[in-house]
Amino acid sequence: MTLLSKRLQAVYQMVDAGTRVADIGSDHAYLPVELVETSVVNYAIAGEVAVGPMSRSKTDVEKFGLSNKIDVRLGDGLAVINQEDSIDTVVIAGMGGILICDILSRATEAQLSNVQTLILQPNIGEPLVRHWLIEHNFDIVDEDILSEDHHDYEIIKAQKKASVDELTEAQYLMGPVLMTKKSDAFVAKWQRKLNGYQKAVDNMHNAKKIDEAKIGQMKQYIKYVEEIL
Ligand code: SAM
Repeated sequence: MTLLSKRLQAVYQMVDAGTRVADIGSDHAYLPVELVETSVVNYAIAGEVAVGPMSRSKTDVEKFGLSNKIDVRLGDGLAVINQEDSIDTVVIAGMGGILICDILSRATEAQLSNVQTLILQPNIGEPLVRHWLIEHNFDIVDEDILSEDHHDYEIIKAQKKASVDELTEAQYLMGPVLMTKKSDAFVAKWQRKLNGYQKAVDNMHNAKKIDEAKIGQMKQYIKYVEEIL
């Protein structure tokens, strides 16, 4: 039986077989344990900045007899990765987009030198994450979206390239791959957002001080979403 939530299952699905994975902010280390137990990967690092979760994960990994395949390490962001670990895939899931970008921006060149794939699951702030990826030559190759416990979660998979094309504003907002897949979860999310934007514009028109710039931005979002749905 899997330990993974629907959200972490979707992250798990994005990991390529045979890669060497670092799960940063791993908390309970469920993802590395599932990846190794199902033989998707042979080696993983569970990185965690908080002592409590890190030592609990260490105990669990030992209990499952996986200490030879999963290193549970205490540390801030990608500081848990050494060049000789040959980590090619970094997962950062279950945090806000600002924190994910901050963790990635603080990584040294040596820590990122072997990294070919990033699998990121921001709880909010997805456009920020897409901007970081494109600015750092990571091409968005896959995306998924799902709803769990009344929250929409997006997963973004990106691969290092020599150069990548800029995205349009609509693609940063909604996701270049998600826009083409147009799954039911995607349509439901953006239908809800569209209603929210329309209500916000009505409220702003009725406000004492009318903020034309904000109304303009909202109307632009409405246009993008209507075009896609
Ligand atoms: N990745 C798991 C998931 O998706 O279910 C756990 C998500 S949990 C909400 C976020 C975890 O990230 C916490 O355990 C927190 O301590 C850890 N964290 C936050 N900032 C971190 C950092 N800079 N480096 C490593 N871990 C961090």
